[in-house]
Amino acid sequence: MGETQAAMSQELAQLYAEVRQCQRCILGKGRTLAVPGDGPESARIMFIGEAPGYHEDQQGKPFVGAAGKFLEELLAGVKLQRKDVYICNVIKCRPPGNRDPFPDELEACRPYLDRQIALIKPKIIITLGRFSMARYFPNQSISKIHGQAKRFGATLVVPMFHPAAALHQPFYRSMIVEDFAKLPALLAEADKMDASGAPDSGPPAQAQQLSLF
Ligand code: URA
Repeated sequence: MGETQAAMSQELAQLYAEVRQCQRCILGKGRTLAVPGDGPESARIMFIGEAPGYHEDQQGKPFVGAAGKFLEELLAGVKLQRKDVYICNVIKCRPPGNRDPFPDELEACRPYLDRQIALIKPKIIITLGRFSMARYFPNQSISKIHGQAKRFGATLVVPMFHPAAALHQPFYRSMIVEDFAKLPALLAEADKMDASGAPDSGPPAQAQQLSLF
């Protein structure tokens, strides 16, 4: 049992156990391993990606393939390590051939992410790619809003490009590097924020644009 798991609350352990045997949608039939999430429950930053790919499905851990390596590089650029942050996905099981998740699959998995966010209570949520962005910024364009923080309750949410999309495309790569560079200032801003707001549990009821960047 790793350091992270030893420190895990009963509630989070229970959530992981449910995810690992989940059959709420068709993806439960085809997976090797479900991928609940990874990282310390005390993390101040939560990354939400899309869905497990081949390597994640094999290992039961999010972002362990090429996109994960790039994510670790991006973290190192702002003096963070993987063990400092919490990483998960909107979908906990690999869609066949890495296709996009279907609406009913997103819906079936949503309560798991809701509970994860409620337990971790991150100060900052970074959405990676369009499916996690849509949770907070429906019908928005990532090209227009990437890197711009919005407050939801006691949490700052920052949409960013997906590392897999940015990995081999210099244009997107430089934008995600720039967006990551804002993280230290955003953390400082989040620390100053009044923590009385309810932790996020969904779409933009009382979203408030920050004028930071
Ligand atoms: N891409 C994702 O969105 N999530 C993973 O876990 C791996 C790749």
